[in-house]
Amino acid sequence: MKLPDVMRSAVLVEPGRVEIRDVPLPRPGPGQVLVRIERALAGGTDRKAFARGHPQIPMPGPIGHRYAGVVASLGPGAPAFEVGQPIMGVHSAPCLQCDLCRKERWSLCPHVMAEKVLGAFGQYLCIPAQVAKLNLFPRPASLSPDHAALLEPLACVVHGLALIDWKHVESVLVLGLGAVGLFFAQLLPSYTRAARAGCGRRQRRLELARRFGLDPVWELHVGKDLPDDLRQRRFDVVLECTGKLEGWQQAFDFVLPGGQVLLFGGLPKGSVFPVDCTRLHYEEIRLLGDFHFSHRDVARAREFLLAGQLELEAMIDDCLPLDQLPEVMRRLAESEGLQYAVNPW
Ligand SMILES: [Zn+2]
Repeated sequence: MKLPDVMRSAVLVEPGRVEIRDVPLPRPGPGQVLVRIERALAGGTDRKAFARGHPQIPMPGPIGHRYAGVVASLGPGAPAFEVGQPIMGVHSAPCLQCDLCRKERWSLCPHVMAEKVLGAFGQYLCIPAQVAKLNLFPRPASLSPDHAALLEPLACVVHGLALIDWKHVESVLVLGLGAVGLFFAQLLPSYTRAARAGCGRRQRRLELARRFGLDPVWELHVGKDLPDDLRQRRFDVVLECTGKLEGWQQAFDFVLPGGQVLLFGGLPKGSVFPVDCTRLHYEEIRLLGDFHFSHRDVARAREFLLAGQLELEAMIDDCLPLDQLPEVMRRLAESEGLQYAVNPW
């Protein structure tokens, strides 16, 4: 594959400002794999980073962490891929050697964030050695690059579902019906036979939630009164996917005694979440923090993608060229659409 010396790549300069620049083409070092990006995916994390900055995305710097493409070149000692081979992957990997990895808490490994790669909104991306070793895979022809780029958000959802103790769970509420909530809706039947309901906003998302098996689905606006038939309802498991403090509070309010609340949607640094300690104690409510994913979650998410049972088309609203990344960010900020594919060519 003939490679250029420079490539087009997006730089997040500061909140609200992203620029497409010419930058030197990275050269893969030992164990690394240079990927020619076919599609990147823009979603909630990118929206947050663009709107207010993100603790894991330094500025100014490259942005984008969901991708699919083909192998462009291989560093010495890289895994046994071939140049031109279609691949799919994620942007981070645990070290497998630290104390947290030894305890199988791979998502909390300090190396996961320290050695991740950003820059999927560009023409090429150099995958770090440990990521290439653990979390880069061949992509079958049956899976389009758009859909393969869903591997990362799906791995996050798989991780959350694995944190829950599903024994005796009879009812689940998905609170927040963005891309994550709708992925939860699609995957839940693989984990539980419990009744599944949802709360969210925007007609199209409510319709998708119903199509993915949530019933009932309530329209819910933060700060407004709850619908009558929802006010008294409680659930064994509440999946918090709004990423808003009000959502965290509401998730706690909706959980049954003995129930579990999965706190998926991260809040800005310094946020404080007040809880009713009486309920927490006397009702033995379990609040489950949920961050990132492990290599096992990635492997499981890939199985889900390859099995072909998920409705992936509905999860991506449009595909825009890299030059229009600012427009993609604007649409995400306005909650226009769930996720967008970005074509860097
Ligand atoms: Zn580790």
